Amino acid sequence: MAKAKPPTKKQIERRERIRELGCIVQRTRKHECKGWKIEMHHCGTNAGGRKNHDKQIPLCQWLHQEISRLSLRVWETIWGTEEEHLAIVEQEEPLS
Ligand SMILES: [Zn+2]
Repeated sequence: MAKAKPPTKKQIERRERIRELGCIVQRTRKHECKGWKIEMHHCGTNAGGRKNHDKQIPLCQWLHQEISRLSLRVWETIWGTEEEHLAIVEQEEPLS
């Protein structure tokens, strides 16, 4: 994976607000993940793309690990696409 630029102060502040949204998959899927900590998943890095700090979604640790376990392609067929979850995050925490 290409090396990421460090996030800007604005991106760090937005990341913390996004974290407060909790596991984003719960908005659209039947999924219980109380107790797992929330981690940030960078979308669009599957094809070796550079991490874009404007494209992060909050996932519980369990679902985040499932991406590596299943592969993103399979994960998305079960839990929804990165784009779908990203759209919800951007609706709730717009990029300014
Ligand atoms: Zn979850």
